Parts: sequence; structure tokens; C-alpha cells
Amino acid sequence: AACLSKYFKRITIIESDDVLNETLHKSTPDQIFDYHCRLANTTSIGRSGVGQIYQIHVLHSEGFNILHDLFPSLKDKLLNEYNIRLYSLKNDGKFVINGNLLKQNLIKDIEWLGIDRFTLEIAMRNELCLQFGNQIEWICNARVVELIADQSAYVAHGAKYRLKDSSSSSLDIYGDFIIDCTGHNTSSTKWLKESLNLIVPIVQMHFGCGYVTFVDERFKTGDSSLDSKPVYFPNANVPDNNTGCYISQVRTIKSTDENSLGILSTIAVNCVNAEYSPNDSYENLLDWVKEHLDRDFYVILKSTKLCSPLVPHRQAIDDRKYVESLGGAMCAFNPQIGQVMTHACRHARELRKVFDEHQHPLKDISYIFNQRASKINEECWLASTTNDWKTPTLKVIKTDTNGNIQIYQQTGDMNSIQYPRPKIPFIIKFLQWHNYWFLRCTSKSEKLSAEFLLVVNQNCGLFILMKPITFFQVCKTTLIHYLRLSRY
Ligand SMILES: Cc1cc2nc3c(=O)[nH]c(=O)nc-3n(C[C@H](O)[C@H](O)[C@H](O)COP(=O)(O)OP(=O)(O)OC[C@H]3O[C@@H](n4cnc5c(N)ncnc54)[C@H](O)[C@@H]3O)c2cc1C
Repeated sequence: AACLSKYFKRITIIESDDVLNETLHKSTPDQIFDYHCRLANTTSIGRSGVGQIYQIHVLHSEGFNILHDLFPSLKDKLLNEYNIRLYSLKNDGKFVINGNLLKQNLIKDIEWLGIDRFTLEIAMRNELCLQFGNQIEWICNARVVELIADQSAYVAHGAKYRLKDSSSSSLDIYGDFIIDCTGHNTSSTKWLKESLNLIVPIVQMHFGCGYVTFVDERFKTGDSSLDSKPVYFPNANVPDNNTGCYISQVRTIKSTDENSLGILSTIAVNCVNAEYSPNDSYENLLDWVKEHLDRDFYVILKSTKLCSPLVPHRQAIDDRKYVESLGGAMCAFNPQIGQVMTHACRHARELRKVFDEHQHPLKDISYIFNQRASKINEECWLASTTNDWKTPTLKVIKTDTNGNIQIYQQTGDMNSIQYPRPKIPFIIKFLQWHNYWFLRCTSKSEKLSAEFLLVVNQNCGLFILMKPITFFQVCKTTLIHYLRLSRY
């Protein structure tokens, strides 16, 4: 909405949750955080539309750059009013990617905003209302249920929506430009089929992703190398190690306890290949961590005070829809790399650029945007799915342009239906080889570690990791490894 504000006098947001209610809109920063910590159930504060709202979220630096351009006061407000801290990945972060510890003395520093998704969303919405309040109309507690379309011209002129608290029939709204931002559970594929008889091709990859997220206060562990790192991310290294853990600072606090680090963090224990951790009690989770994760995490988790319920999430998949929409509605990825909010921000920036060019008729904008957004999707899709193809129980479901559904599965259990194995695309095979050796190089190179993090943060495209000199280094490392092996 902020990106389009220059080009439309009036923007209407139809939102299924009651996001402007007193609790979400008027609470103080402390109250907001308190709600986050006390409530496990997203519906109880009127936010059932985003099931993952309490899960760990990091906003990549490119995403934050885009938000900062749109909302210049947001950063200061977050730092001064919300006790959020910016941290430096060079000094404050530790990353273990596919089993390789990235070099910490990065040649280029990257800043991260230490914030939880629930707070970020509320702060952003408040800023949107402050800056563009007189242009934006909110229709909350209302679900879009259908498109109003002209079948002969293949155009949607509006949408039908239904107020959640009312038993009355649906209402119509018309617009010059309509965007679907309803996230990965979007019904746009159904709406397009019903209204325009259009079939949207879809690829879904189910890799048994599980998260258990909670908020805690961190205390000294007696190991300064752990206590000095508010950000610690070792990802799952499928298929050898299918579990990971993410620690990200979300608030600074003043504590009278001299052992407190003055940090509130969100911590997520995650898995792929359906190797889920327990979420019934912290004690059981700790036992699981002791058995499945590096000792560091047991040490850190043992020295924390739990401040929220354990919130599980098991629905994340890679989900790509070849349709003109924005953000998660177009493409959702393995949350492990934390790409989707930034990917949605990049989509919005791209859409604004198309309008900024002032040369395209309104009717063509959606098509032009889709072409450019697809390139962003492709980049993020490759980055996210390369490892997922290695998941032993991977299931791939493809819907083609005729609506035919094909299912592939890596391995099934003896009692279930047997599906053919998925065919791994050549580009993915190449990336699996390249990433394996590239990441081994990063553990010895500050430059490559920094470049890798710039790509992860979406400041640069994937292909900077394949510059000739880097590619040569990757090939050399591979060759030396095999030559050494052949000597024995
Ligand atoms: C476990 C987990 C961890 C994640 N971690 C990260 C991370 O670290 N970093 C990151 O960038 N991303 C992360 N993600 C992804 C991220 O949460 C979302 O995919 C991303 O926010 C997509 O944003 P969006 O605006 O497109 O959709 P959403 O944030 O899902 O918003 C969609 C909105 O549309 C509304 N809506 C839905 N249907 C209708 C309807 N019919 N009518 C009206 N309104 C409707 C909803 O109420 C909601 O407000 C994670 C996801 C999961 C599951």
C-alpha cells in the first residue's frame, strides 16, 4: 500500500483479521510484547490469518532497507520506543551453514534488526496509518471470497468480500488495480478457476519442516564465546543432520539479576524430514536438544528463563504458484533461510518501479510486474529448495497448466501408496555440488563468508557466488580433496 500511495488517490485494504482493534493498534510496546509472550493462540488477539506470527522471524537487511525507504521514522521508533537493537553480523552473529562455521571477521558488515514478527507487523501498520492514513481505507474482519471478473476480457474488475461478524451476503468492491497479498494460503488459484476458468500451475515441496519457537531471557552460561552472540544460527544439514536451532535477540531489557544478559530472544528448534522435536514441556525439549543438537545449545537453553509457551508449527512447505500476486501468495519457501518477508518487500519495490517508469498502460502493469517478480521468485526458490531436494522423505506435488496433478516421492513407507521418485533438475544438482564445496571454502575465507551472507540477506543475487575467481577456488578445493583421497 505504501508503494502504491504515489499513484492512487485511494487504496483499500481488505483484511480478514481485526488488525485495527484496540489491542493490536493501541497497545504500548511493552504490552505488545506481553501479549506475544502470554498468548499461544493467535486467534485470541484477532490474528488468525497469520498462523506463523509467533514463530521466529528474521528480516534480512535488504528487506529492512526497503522498509526504511518507505517509513523513514520506523527505525528510530523501534530503537527508542521498543527497545529493539540493531546488531552487527560481524560481531554479534555466529552461523553454521550445512555444518560449516562461517568466518566471523566479515570483510563487509551487515546489520540486522533484532525484532519479533508480531511487534514488527504492528509497528509497521501504525506507521502506514500515520503516513498514509488519509489515503488508505481499511475493511477489517472481512474475507475476500471471489473475484468480480469479465470472462471475455480475462480481467478482474473487483472482488466480493464477506464481513466475518455478519450473516449478510457478500459485498462488492471495484478497483482500477487489484493485488492479492493474502499469503501462502491464498485462494487466488480457486478464484481464478471459478471466475475466469484459468488454471494456475503450482509446485509444492513437502520436506517435513517443523518449528518449536519460544521467547526466553538469556543468562550467563560461563562461556563468553556463547554469551557474546545474540544471533546463533546452525541450520539443518539434510540428509546427514536434519535438525537445527535459531537464536535471535528481540528486545533488550534492564534486569537486576547480575547473571542476566539483558536480552530477550526468540529461540526456534527446527527440523526437516519430519524429525519433530517435542513441544509438550520445556524439560522434554531440553532432553531432545541434548540428544540432537550441538552441546552449545543445551548449554544456552539450560541457562535461560522461559517467558512464553512453546509454539509449534508444522505446515511450512516450498510453494510456488505461477500467478500474478505478491509475496507469500506467489511463492513461499523453506523458512530456514528466512526469505519471504524480504522477498515480499522486493516484490512491492518492483511494482513501484514499474509505476515509476510512467510508460506502461495500467492494463499491462500486472503482466510486466509478474515477469520481474518471477525473477525474484526464481532466485529465492533456487536458494531455498537446493537442500530440500536432499530430504529423504521429500514429496513433490505438481499441478500443470491443464490442472493435472502429479505426485512424486523420494521414499515412502511400505504401507503407503508408492509414487515415482522426483527428478532433480540439473541446475539444482549443480547448485548442490557448488554449495557443498563453496561452503567449505567459506569456513576459511572472510570474503566468501561475507559474500554468502550478502546473498542470504538478498543484498546481492545468487550468482555472485559463481564469479570466475570464486568458481575457480571451488573447483580447486574439490580437486585437491579428490587428489588427496586418491593418494590413500
Ligand atoms: C515457521 C516459519 C518461520 C518463518 N520465518 C521467516 C523469517 O525468518 N523471515 C521471513 O522473511 N519470513 C519467514 N517466514 C515466512 C513469513 O512468515 C511469511 O511467509 C511472509 O510473512 C509472507 O508475507 P505475506 O504478506 O505475503 O503474507 P502473510 O504475512 O501471510 O499475510 C497475509 C495477510 O492476508 C490476510 N488474508 C488471508 N486471506 C485473506 C482473505 N481471503 N481476505 C482478506 N484477507 C486475507 C491475512 O489475515 C494476513 O494478514 C516464516 C514462516 C514460517 C511458517
